[in-house]
Amino acid sequence: MSTPKYKRVVLKLSGEALAGEAGFGINPPIIHSVANQVKEIAELGVEVAVVVGGGNIWRGKIGSEMGMDRATADYMGMLATVMNSLALQDSLEQNGIETRVQTSIDMRQIAEPYIRRRAIRHLEKKRVVIFAAGTGNPYFSTDTTAALRAAEIEADVILMAKNNVDGVYSADPKLDETAVKYDELSFLDVIKDGLAVMDSTASSLCMDNNIPLIVFSIMEEGNIKRVVMGESIGTIVRGKKND
Ligand code: UDP
Repeated sequence: MSTPKYKRVVLKLSGEALAGEAGFGINPPIIHSVANQVKEIAELGVEVAVVVGGGNIWRGKIGSEMGMDRATADYMGMLATVMNSLALQDSLEQNGIETRVQTSIDMRQIAEPYIRRRAIRHLEKKRVVIFAAGTGNPYFSTDTTAALRAAEIEADVILMAKNNVDGVYSADPKLDETAVKYDELSFLDVIKDGLAVMDSTASSLCMDNNIPLIVFSIMEEGNIKRVVMGESIGTIVRGKKND
């Protein structure tokens, strides 16, 4: 049997990827299908850390546009990621996969605090680690969290699983039929051309720390495994060109 291309990965799941067609809330059957895909790669021996977003429940920016204090609205967004993380943990554990949730904001009754060395130890023991509550700081995103945690745990790659697109395009493929899909890009291209891959803080962090990112669709069962095995689906964004 061929071996996985990556040994340790950070899987970034947006909140929307857990919501299904409704686009909001938590959809247990959808989470179950995501959990099955995570299980597939965990069983290959790949060390999996997951960063979960919260946009299916709350986004700080929207709260602030409606007049709320931005930092308060962002803390609410971070709490939303905790709900999603617990839902994913539940589904993975029901599937027989051992997990730990670590939060960047202390809430000892429901999750461990984020401790880098402990997270690495869990990964070495083949537990799936779910990073909740973003970076713990307002004005950041869970994409930035994925970049930060990937650098900290020395992940080989960030797998950015999308529920609405299968890679990075030159324009929004739903609005512009001339949009073309890229197979490969650099973070400099992403930043320079303002491509909607991740926010610029997250992109800069990946670029500066040379962390590759693969953007792909999670809607097709088995795609996480395909990416981990090295199949070229989606778009790869490289830390440095020609690495
Ligand atoms: N958030 C934050 N700091 C972080 C991560 C997240 O303040 O380090 C807040 C922010 O308000 C954001 C919300 O949590 O809108 C949900 O995260 P995000 O929008 O990244 O979720 P996704 O789009 O991936 O579902």
